[in-house]
Amino acid sequence: MNKSYKDLNTTAVHSGTLAQMEDGGVLTPLYMSTAYPYLGQDSFPYPRYFNIPNHEAVAQKVAALEATESGLILSSGMAAISSTLFTFLRAGDHAVFPKSVYGGTFSLISKQLERFGISYSWTRDESTAAFAEAIQPNTKVIYLETPSNPLLKVTDIRSVANLAKKAGIITLIDNTFASPINQTPHRLGADVVIHSATKYLGGHSDITAGAVLGSHEHILAIRNTAKVFGGSMAPETLYMLERSLKTLGIRVNQQTQNALHLAQWLENHNKVARVHYPGLVTHPNHSVAKAQMKGFGAMLSFDLAPDVDVQGFQQNLQLISPVISLGAVETTLTSPTLTSHASLNPKQQVAEGILEATMRLSVGIEGYEDLQEDLDQALNASEL
Ligand SMILES: *Cc1c(COP(=O)(O)O)cnc(C)c1O
Repeated sequence: MNKSYKDLNTTAVHSGTLAQMEDGGVLTPLYMSTAYPYLGQDSFPYPRYFNIPNHEAVAQKVAALEATESGLILSSGMAAISSTLFTFLRAGDHAVFPKSVYGGTFSLISKQLERFGISYSWTRDESTAAFAEAIQPNTKVIYLETPSNPLLKVTDIRSVANLAKKAGIITLIDNTFASPINQTPHRLGADVVIHSATKYLGGHSDITAGAVLGSHEHILAIRNTAKVFGGSMAPETLYMLERSLKTLGIRVNQQTQNALHLAQWLENHNKVARVHYPGLVTHPNHSVAKAQMKGFGAMLSFDLAPDVDVQGFQQNLQLISPVISLGAVETTLTSPTLTSHASLNPKQQVAEGILEATMRLSVGIEGYEDLQEDLDQALNASEL
């Protein structure tokens, strides 16, 4: 069992850190070796087996943050998602997914699963009833992503996990958007928690990584798949991730407070038609979000008013960068129709509620007055 402390910040700093035995230093040393002795050993470290000391340190820290027994750190979020899906699904099985999954996950499902004889259904929306309807006799996996990208739709984790458990189905959840600071799905009944650690866990726009958290049994099974799929991580990157994780709590709390301020302010701006943020009372699932999240997260999206030039608005931003990716200390903005959801045709985009005027904001740790000032000048300068 991983050591967790009363406060998540203590866990983030201390859990999993391998003390430097030789000189008493406070950091986990960087173990670069790919070769370890085998004589007299039942098992031996090898980087692709996810068992070198730097891997153990980070895996234990993230597992402690997500309140699970065990964890695995992989080379990307997609390595984590693909290794997990192909652990629990085989030919003849069926899986249930919400259509609002991350773009890469959407491609993995729609382009790969059928080739391996795995069938799947998209749920009609993000409600528990929609998940219940989609279950078939051979369903083995229910997959959740809440809050969702880019419209921050919220699914009731506990009720879907209960439903799955009764039917003997495993629940997987992509917890990237909330991070363990704002939501711990394993405590609500989800079996396996997945992260793109490229986002909040890394948090500085400089590493690509993934994480999978769950029981010893589930993580062992995923490790055996991942070992031969080959998505392991370099020790230097593991070291950087461990360093980033120590400030996860203070980063995400500041980002979350900023996001709530900005969401409330944007909602009253006359150049903004609509704001999507689970922390607003106007959000259709605000009460579920309030019950299952500690904070409402640092991702929000908004639709520009019809009299705002969409292209001009993005170009007029000075502090906030229009770039892909999210979850870092700097505030970034993305147009989903040009990036994550570009593969949907305009009709499909509108059906999903994603408009050309929809802007997704990943709120950073800057002072929110500076962010507000930048958004305000860009909104006002882009009137058609
Ligand atoms: C980015 C992202 C992923 C994929 O992660 P990579 O590290 O890019 O492979 C998966 N899920 C969500 C919600 C993401 O934002």
